[in-house]
Amino acid sequence: MNQVCVAKFGGTSVANAEAMGRCAQVVVANPKTRVVVLSASAGVTNLLVELSQGTLDAAARADRLQRLDAIQQNILGALGNPQPLSQTISDMLAEVRDLAEQATVASDAALVDRMVAQGELMSTRLFTELMNQQGHKSVWFDVRKVMRTDSRFGKATPAIEALRTLAQQEMAPLLAENFVITQGFIGANAEGQTTTLGRGGSDYSAALLAEALNVAELEIWTDVPGIYTTDPRMVKSARPIPEISFAEAAEMATFGAKVLHPSTLQPAVRRNIPVFVGSSKDPAAGGTWVRSSTESTPLFRAVALRRNQILLTLQSPNMLGACGFLADVFSILARHRISVDLITTSEVSVALTLDHTGSQSNGKSMLSDEVLAELGALCKVKVESDLALVALIGNRMSEVSGAGTRVFDAIDDVSVRLICYGASAHNLCFLVQESQAEDVIQRLHKKLLD
Ligand code: ASP
Ligand code: MG
Repeated sequence: MNQVCVAKFGGTSVANAEAMGRCAQVVVANPKTRVVVLSASAGVTNLLVELSQGTLDAAARADRLQRLDAIQQNILGALGNPQPLSQTISDMLAEVRDLAEQATVASDAALVDRMVAQGELMSTRLFTELMNQQGHKSVWFDVRKVMRTDSRFGKATPAIEALRTLAQQEMAPLLAENFVITQGFIGANAEGQTTTLGRGGSDYSAALLAEALNVAELEIWTDVPGIYTTDPRMVKSARPIPEISFAEAAEMATFGAKVLHPSTLQPAVRRNIPVFVGSSKDPAAGGTWVRSSTESTPLFRAVALRRNQILLTLQSPNMLGACGFLADVFSILARHRISVDLITTSEVSVALTLDHTGSQSNGKSMLSDEVLAELGALCKVKVESDLALVALIGNRMSEVSGAGTRVFDAIDDVSVRLICYGASAHNLCFLVQESQAEDVIQRLHKKLLD
């Protein structure tokens, strides 16, 4: 599949018929593109998640269903309400209505996934029709035939080997003659039950499919022209980055930049597949190439912000000179499938922040009362919130002298709650009060990146 490109479009890119039309142009503009992976139209997953919780009253349910219906009908209308597609979409909406009723009696994670999957199933049906109407021969492909996962509904883990075999068998033969239009975010377990990969998981799906099909490149189309030096809504002088390494981009995705789902780059790295990030609204604006190595390797490339951090401080005199305390802490976290972002230790305590990207498709927090109780049995637990994580991304940071001085000099009047530095040459990160976060980002950008 050396000459093939997988293109993924996010929710805003497929929000309505006009936006979908722009995606079609982007698809045909690159002769390599054969596989198209879509998110649900903007807003749809949120509506489905709400409906799936079973907590809405009848009026609220009717309102959400009506909004869902309107998004689909608008697109269908623009396509001329063709049959049999109109009937298919009606049937899918009816299924959502039934499942939403069922959820009010009893909702479970499997039911939630069945419901939220409908968003991607509908957007891909509609886009396939649009492509065919424009004369671009396309087939709709149910990704659940190949995206085999475990049974952790809401945040399922893909089975990479099974995916590779199935994609080669089921998908690859279709590419010669057709555009293959398929869903991000969703999969199925070995029993054929629908699963999801967690919110924002479509990027990850696209990267996994690119890996499974061993393609030449992956395009991620969203509503911003690439990865920026920081969020342009916070800093006016933020610039798009033309080229960035896998290592730097992975740190950025993990530590705040919302452009890519943090897991996206893992499959790309494994197969050394270059990833382009651009805006389907303005493809001519260019974008960012993410590859194994780049021409320039600046000390500071970007600064990212991640809000809503929770800092857990665990204190125990047992830690003093003892072995195994950290192992106990991490085994509790591991059992609850919570992964840790930052960690620092002292003589008798350990402070850590939790990885938010682990949040589930239903939006529930990973830090449950159960986890806190288990940790509480082991040590004294302190939970602090209202913190934001600031991450500087760049190169050779842990080797170059004075990198830390330059960062902290720029914000010398700000109190810093926790610092992580040295584990990677590509990042330096720390926690500040949420209320100071924007100011910190603006000052760092001005001093180090303007
Ligand atoms: N539609 C899903 C979500 O909103 C997946 C995605 O957009 O990547 O989370
Ligand atoms: Mg999305």
